[in-house]
Amino acid sequence: MTHKEKTEQFLHQHYHCSQALFGAFAKDFGLDLKTAFRISTCFGGGMRQGGTCGCITASLLVLGMAFGFYDSQDKEQEVYGNQKTEEFIKRFAQGMDGVVCCRDILGRDISKPEEMALVRKEGLILKKCPRALNLSIDILEDMLADYLKNIKETSIELKDIPENEMHRVLRGISKRNYFQRNVSELLYTSAERIAFIQFDIQKFKIVNDLYGEKFGDEVLDFIERQLEKCCNERQFFINLRSDVFMVVTEYKNERELQAFIRELDSQTRLFKSVKLQMSFGVYTVEDREMELRQMEDRAAMARKAAKKNILRNILFYREQFKESLYNRKFIEENMQAAISERQFCIYLQPKYSITKNEIIGAEALVRWLHPERGMIFPDQFIPVIEENGFIKRLDYYIWEEACRFIKRCEAAGINNCPVSVNVSRIHLRDNECIGILSDMIKDYSIPKKLLELEITETADDQQISMKALQLKEEGFTLLMDDFGSGYSSLNILLETPFDVIKLDRKFMINMMLSGKGRLILEQVITMADKLQLGVLAEGVETKEQVELLQNIGCDQVQGYYYAKPMPEDEFYNLLLNKGEEQAGN
Ligand code: C2E
Ligand code: MG
Ligand code: MG
Repeated sequence: MTHKEKTEQFLHQHYHCSQALFGAFAKDFGLDLKTAFRISTCFGGGMRQGGTCGCITASLLVLGMAFGFYDSQDKEQEVYGNQKTEEFIKRFAQGMDGVVCCRDILGRDISKPEEMALVRKEGLILKKCPRALNLSIDILEDMLADYLKNIKETSIELKDIPENEMHRVLRGISKRNYFQRNVSELLYTSAERIAFIQFDIQKFKIVNDLYGEKFGDEVLDFIERQLEKCCNERQFFINLRSDVFMVVTEYKNERELQAFIRELDSQTRLFKSVKLQMSFGVYTVEDREMELRQMEDRAAMARKAAKKNILRNILFYREQFKESLYNRKFIEENMQAAISERQFCIYLQPKYSITKNEIIGAEALVRWLHPERGMIFPDQFIPVIEENGFIKRLDYYIWEEACRFIKRCEAAGINNCPVSVNVSRIHLRDNECIGILSDMIKDYSIPKKLLELEITETADDQQISMKALQLKEEGFTLLMDDFGSGYSSLNILLETPFDVIKLDRKFMINMMLSGKGRLILEQVITMADKLQLGVLAEGVETKEQVELLQNIGCDQVQGYYYAKPMPEDEFYNLLLNKGEEQAGN
């Protein structure tokens, strides 16, 4: 259907002129109709007050969307945008013999509700607006065709222009618009099936850190070049952000699609002898009316799942990914109530000394006891609430629970059992947590050394180092959690004043698998010793692991072999009994 046919259809469905016009172009920008109507209705309000013809308002909206004049920082785009706006109004006024006011076209003042009612009753929009609408569409289509031609011609030149921020942004905007238009057209016109393929590089951050950001940029350029080679004129690609790329393609059957993705994989696998591993997420389009953004989201969900999958690096979006969306929705809708209704609680997992065979502390781990769903484990909800920021509130709640427990122990005469709490990385972005922790210690009047802080090792060592330093200066004991699980920069050990490193469970597994694994562990323990850091092994599950750890000089352990995380009362009783045993001895 042409833009004009669509406009006419909307007019017959009793939409206003501006809604009909903007709605006709909505698909070109990946907008669904509902959103388009909402936007044009908002702008229509202004138009009604000013008396301007609604076709002008809607056309300027279309131009704004097409050229991307929405970045107020981007002065060049703004100038260009204003030129285009003027050009449109001039041509429109010429075509309408100078009539640009709604009142003059309709013969009614639509800012008055009673007159607007008459416009509706008499069907005036359908009778009097089509001339202005058709003229607007002619001008818009002309201008857009011109613009498209320009992008196509200049995009090669743009590549040669030295990279500065302005050009990068400009190029990004035009590319994104160009891509969206092409994809919309493909969805609209293609008789074949269509797939959205999104991919990124596993551990791209490490590539950047190891070889430098310039090399990282070269890698991204290389991928673009390979995509240019692999894609034909009906296959479109874009670098969405950082190392995330998307390709939209037609395909006949799944075998052909798989072969295309494998080709992309093999063409992007190696750059200057550095191996790159891609994770591909694929969404095969079923409903072409769906919003473009939603299709992208589904491909993104599949990509993220592929990233976590150790067996396959290509995953198709399947309905079960929706499950994870429902899960997310459940968490977001229930998390506030869960705090106010005290559904979160701490489980405590003891830490042991192998040689003394006694409890030397505990870690507080959150559990969500939902009245209908039962117990929900942190891995199921922490990633979601870290994304939406709610983790801060939850952590404060858990830290306070830990303080309350420490106080409870003290009251019973147990004052040698430090409790560690987990500090999400989100806290390290600002200074709030330092004050909150210090206040809690004061409010519960417990010794600072009894509340220990676990911070997970990450790639952002600079940021962690700074915050950790401040916490350390405040007098807190710091444990580096999950050491060896991912990035393992040894620098962080030098730069950050951790007191203890907690060896990740992976170390335990590798140690049992090979002599090499054991050797590495031995070296880490020797190094920690030299740096005067304590070492605690996490995830210790077997007697053999305990013996090996003891042989290589690691005494502190935490794991199922000794005890699983348990409810507060159970751990409290364990401590009380331990006290009695010792008293009895
Ligand atoms: P983590 O801090 O590394 O905690 C250790 C996790 O390993 C716990 O899982 C614990 O139950 C599990 N674990 C302990 N011993 C063994 C073992 O021998 N074998 C195996 N397979 N697992 C063992 P959990 O409680 O499910 O917690 C998972 C992660 O969630 C924690 O890892 C931590 O990163 C996070 N987390 C838990 N509670 C909180 C919290 O209150 N705040 C924040 N920010 N994160 C939390
Ligand atoms: Mg921990
Ligand atoms: Mg850990």
